[in-house]
Amino acid sequence: MHVLLLSDIHSNLEALEACLAAAPAYDVAVNLGDVVGYGASPNEVIDRSRNLGKFFVRGNHDKAAAGLTELKEFNPIAGLAALWTREHLNPENLEWLRTLPHGPIQIEDLPGIQFVHGSPVDEDEYVVTLRDAIEPLLLSAATITFFGHTHLQGSFSSSQVATDVFRPEYKTVGQSESAQFPLKVGLRYLINPGSVGQPRDGDWRAAFALYDSDSRIVSFHRVPYNLKRAQDRILAANLPQRLATRLAAGR
Ligand code: ZN
Repeated sequence: MHVLLLSDIHSNLEALEACLAAAPAYDVAVNLGDVVGYGASPNEVIDRSRNLGKFFVRGNHDKAAAGLTELKEFNPIAGLAALWTREHLNPENLEWLRTLPHGPIQIEDLPGIQFVHGSPVDEDEYVVTLRDAIEPLLLSAATITFFGHTHLQGSFSSSQVATDVFRPEYKTVGQSESAQFPLKVGLRYLINPGSVGQPRDGDWRAAFALYDSDSRIVSFHRVPYNLKRAQDRILAANLPQRLATRLAAGR
């Protein structure tokens, strides 16, 4: 089975469209949360995402925009964007956001695999470093966990005796590229497809991944998108300017 992995779209319609246009054929799409927040196209991104299928976990920005968490845990810019999103969502999409499930979720035909937003232990936890990854790698029931939340594309793995980090290396800064990552038998993995709509690894291109469960290969992808249009929408919506500028820096 070919699984399309999308995470942290953050209301960036241009980035989502570019990923979907570049994605190879897939059987199922899984969304790892933060469909909204930061960007200026929440309704369009929700509509487009819902058309891809039914597999979603909720992210912290989804919860905040839906009014399920208090905004005081957010920094001021993120809090403003969450409020803006809540005000601009149509009633149907707001209700849909409210009912998104808590991770981990599983898919029947994919045994040993789970999908979460933050970590399998805590949906709001950031797994940024190998040190952060060790406990979830050891405690988790699934061999492979796909996660988001950090906006950093790559993988952490562990066996009984060793741990490892993989970050894809790309050759260009502005073209479509992909990197293959074959999974090894006997290792446990935490894998992040990267952020579609607000990458934070210094690479402005939209990120996603595809997992082939037959060959056990993850392909990480980066695709350029219409950055200017996404930025213009943010500015036209009177969202904080920083939310537009950071997209160009990939931070
Ligand atoms: Zn996010």
